[in-house]
Order: sequence, then structure tokens, then C-alpha cells
Amino acid sequence: MKIAIIGAGASGLVAGLCASKNNDVTIYCADEKIGKKILVTGNGRCNLTNTQGFDTAYNQDVSKFFEKISNLDIIKFFNNLGLEIYVDEEGRVYPLSNSAQSVVEVLTNALAKDNVNIKFEKVEDIKIDNRFNVITNLSNEEYDKVIIATGSENVLLDKMKIKYKPFSPSLVALKTKENTKELSGLRLTNVKVTLDVDNKKYTEFGEVLFKDKGLSGICIFNISAYLARKNNFNAKIYIDLLPKFTYENVVIMLTNRLKLNFKNISEFMTGLFNKKINKYLLKNLNLDEQKNIKELNSNIIEKIAKIIKNLPFNVVGYYENYQVKSGGVRLCDLTENFEYKEIKNLYFIGEVVDVDGLCGGYNLSWAFVSAMLAGEDD
Ligand SMILES: Cc1cc2nc3c(=O)[nH]c(=O)nc-3n(C[C@H](O)[C@H](O)[C@H](O)COP(=O)(O)OP(=O)(O)OC[C@H]3O[C@@H](n4cnc5c(N)ncnc54)[C@H](O)[C@@H]3O)c2cc1C
Repeated sequence: MKIAIIGAGASGLVAGLCASKNNDVTIYCADEKIGKKILVTGNGRCNLTNTQGFDTAYNQDVSKFFEKISNLDIIKFFNNLGLEIYVDEEGRVYPLSNSAQSVVEVLTNALAKDNVNIKFEKVEDIKIDNRFNVITNLSNEEYDKVIIATGSENVLLDKMKIKYKPFSPSLVALKTKENTKELSGLRLTNVKVTLDVDNKKYTEFGEVLFKDKGLSGICIFNISAYLARKNNFNAKIYIDLLPKFTYENVVIMLTNRLKLNFKNISEFMTGLFNKKINKYLLKNLNLDEQKNIKELNSNIIEKIAKIIKNLPFNVVGYYENYQVKSGGVRLCDLTENFEYKEIKNLYFIGEVVDVDGLCGGYNLSWAFVSAMLAGEDD
């Protein structure tokens, strides 16, 4: 069979390899080099997959696909290409080289060995008659099967009149109504973040990084996925600065601190949190840092405890740099091997499909699993 794969990202490259065993395969690449996005994944280390449960990582149940190809199969696939890997304490799988470049290199070598043709041409349109006519501004070629692996790019989908759920940025830093400039650059670890949106609550534990006018960090990226899936970036976020303490415990701890010989609230807060956070909390409560400790009554102690357990932020949007987009061709319009039900021999894989995961290697896992199933299907 003559197969065209549109897109040379994680899913397109793996599909190309899987399809190349018995077929004549051409991959179309709109970028100047293949695997461009792979290079920036995992901060340049490429978090390939995850050895822990996949149950709650995606916007919908995709277990039937991972039953066919598991995370261990993904590891085996890359091992067979010569890539050594390691697993960190949270189950995240990385190349032993700690370099995403190695991932692109083993894929490049394997594609060359299998004589996969790579065309550095952007596909402008695909006309469907009996076969598929793939059109670029340099060429015009016919294929028996086409696999679309274009990521969250919708131009081709619109031209081909494919049905899809609109894309929305996910795993992205969030803009807040609150000005957080004085906290900018500060990283909080071991905090709990609760998202309150459309009367539903979602929680994440881990790290938050403050930006000038918003929040970032893995916890926030994961929280953003829930907003992306609803395509609603107006919500409330609460940070619990001491998730291991109950509210009552915090009140007791603060009350005990009153017995120490502090002269003002600023001193009272020192030793609790980072100086910038202490200042931010007091400002939020309209408490003068110089206020005498003797004026700290139980009412004020309770207010401080409340804000420590529930530091509020109003989300008003998102920053520009996202990791993935939610949305795409719906699973109900695809077969179990990612063939578009309405058009035989047309497949969709990776991010262009309406499956998005949280941080931890889940999005690349999806790209690889869908690529293997579609690439091998004939
Ligand atoms: C900064 C960052 C860090 C990330 N880190 C991780 C991580 O550590 N682990 C993880 O699991 N996920 C991570 N992701 C997400 C992951 O990179 C994506 O889920 C994955 O790359 C999706 O693969 P894909 O092949 O579907 O799409 P893409 O990688 O986006 O590839 C699509 C390709 O199609 C090409 N294309 C588009 N239109 C056309 C056309 N008309 N003609 C020809 N070619 C076309 C594009 O140029 C591109 O090369 C990260 C993403 C970013 C941005």
C-alpha cells in the first residue's frame, strides 16, 4: 500500500515506522526538521510515558487502547530502536541520556533504515476520490491510505470538512485577576491547589510557580487541563499552603505563636512562610505589618488561618505557551484503530484526536499508542 502520513511529530514518526514494514510510506513535514516538538518536551528531556496508572490522566476513558498497547509496549518499542530509558520516582519515563534529541535520533535512524520517504512540504489540501490526492505547493501525489498527524492544527481539518471539537490550550500557565508581581519567580512546593469551576472541584498536589500576573507550575498546568476541557478559563483557584494541617491545627499553631515574644505581625509571620508570601498574605487581609502583636485577637488569627488554607485567585485567562490542546476529532467518529468512520483509509492520530492528558508523559503516550494502532492497521 502507498501511505502518506501528514505531520512529522511524535505520532507521525512512530506511525511511519509501524506502517513501513509492508508498505511504501511517505511522511510530510511542514517544519524544517522532523520531531521538532519532541525536542522541547520534558524540558528537553522528553518524558516518554509513565509506568503508573492511566485511569484519571485523560479527558475520557481510553483504557481500551492501552489494553492493546501498554506503557510497557511503548518502552519496549523505544528499547528496540536502541533507546535506553530510566524511570523516576513518580513513574515518569525518560531516555537514559536525559536528552530528547536521542529520541528524535533513534527514530530518524530507524526511518532511514526502513526507507521511509520524508518530504519537507506542507500539505495544503487532500482531495478524496477513490484514492487520496495529497497536494502541496510543490507536489501532487496519490495514496491508498492517509494518516493525519498534524497536532492541534485545524487548517487541514477545515479544508477536508472533518468534524472535530474546537481546540483549546491545555497544560498552560493561568492569568489571574490578582497582581502577583511581588511573588513573581517564587516556587511553592507541597501545596494543594483546588479549582472551583461550574460547581465542581478538582484538586492537585505539588508545585506552584508565580508569574507577574498569574500562576504556573505542574499543579497549575494540570488544573488548566480541566478548564481547557470545558473551554472556560473563568474560575476560582484556592492554594492551601499547609495541606498537611487541618484548619484547626493552623489556628492552634498560630495561637501558640502568640506566646512568643514578637513585637509586630511581620515578626509573627516570619518563620512561617517565605517573606514574599507573608507580605502578600498580610496585604490580602489588609493587616499592617507593623501592627502590634497585642492586637492580634482570635478573630484575626482565624482570618490568617483561613487564608493560609485557602489563598484565593481568580483565573481570567491563560498565557501563550501551551503544551497541548484539548479538542480534536472525536473518538466516536473513529474506529478502534483510528480510521475515520465516514472515510475509509483515512486515519487521525495523536493530538489531533480529542484526547488530552495531564503532565507526566501521558500526551506522548497517547501519540505513540494511537500511532502504533493506526500505522499497523491495514
Ligand atoms: C513545551 C512542551 C513540553 C512537552 N512535554 C511533554 C512531555 O514531557 N511528555 C508528554 O507526554 N508530552 C509533552 N508535551 C506534549 C507533546 O509534545 C504532544 O502531545 C505531542 O508532541 C503530540 O504529538 P503529535 O505528533 O500529535 O503532534 P505534533 O508533535 O504537534 O506534530 C504535528 C506535526 O504536524 C506538522 N503539520 C501540521 N500541519 C501540517 C501540514 N499541513 N502539512 C505537513 N505537516 C503538518 C507540524 O509541523 C508538526 O511537525 C509537551 C509539549 C510542549 C509544547
